[in-house]
Amino acid sequence: MGIAIVTGASRGIGASVASRLAALGHSVCVNYRQQADPANRLVESIVNHGGQAIAVQADVADEQQVVQLFETVNQQLGRVDMLVNNAGIIELQSRLQDMTLQRFQHVMNVNVSGTFLCAREAIKWMSTANGGAGGAIVNVSSMAAKLGAPNEYVDYAASKGAVDTMTVGLASEVADQGIRVNAVRPGIIYTDIHASGGEPDRIERVKHAVPMKRGGQPEEVAEAIVWLLSDSASYCTGSFVHVSGGR
Ligand code: NAP
Repeated sequence: MGIAIVTGASRGIGASVASRLAALGHSVCVNYRQQADPANRLVESIVNHGGQAIAVQADVADEQQVVQLFETVNQQLGRVDMLVNNAGIIELQSRLQDMTLQRFQHVMNVNVSGTFLCAREAIKWMSTANGGAGGAIVNVSSMAAKLGAPNEYVDYAASKGAVDTMTVGLASEVADQGIRVNAVRPGIIYTDIHASGGEPDRIERVKHAVPMKRGGQPEEVAEAIVWLLSDSASYCTGSFVHVSGGR
């Protein structure tokens, strides 16, 4: 069984991934930034079902906190061999012409620098070149990387484009160090993220543009992530799975 860090796992897609991994017998670190209560409740529920999990606070955009996150997991659970770069944010819906530089940089810091920092630390522990046993990284991108999110959050879409490119390049770099790097691109998924963009019911407005005419559930994204992490995906690296109902 493996040892996984799931960033931003206190709720939404990350919480679903953490639950699924724990149910499969893996030890899981439930990372969160602010909301300790839901993270602790998730850990409690995993432990009550016989699994192993810890909650660790760390802002993925903060280098020291990310280094500490990996050290804590190494000490408390063991050497990490699975990372899900799931933590991600949007800001209030806006046209690009009205965005401040501060907002743009904040989105990039969490979504891009956070993914970079966690991947870098993970490689230190996973790489066969460092005495590790290899591992798998899944980056949570978005269909927004392809669609551009006009009039809503072009900054976010651009950040996910950067995540996509990092996925392709990093997958090639570490393929001979026993590490696979893949990504999922969710479409519109029922989580709190839409409220943080200022429109909690956004899915009801946009779901008609989805060929399947519905939003997705976090569990449907988690299935794809867990598969990419597993040995069933042993020959997949640098690849992308769309979980988007066809859009
Ligand atoms: P969510 O419900 O808003 O949850 C976000 C999670 O990320 C929370 O656990 C939050 O922790 C954590 N987080 C935020 N900033 C963080 C930071 N700086 N450091 C560490 N953790 C941080 O989001 P979600 O919808 O599940 O999204 C998860 C991922 O899927 C994101 O990368 C998002 O871009 C991507 N995605 C989502 C959708 C969708 O429709 N929902 C579509 C495409 C892609 P706290 O609770 O402590 O704040």
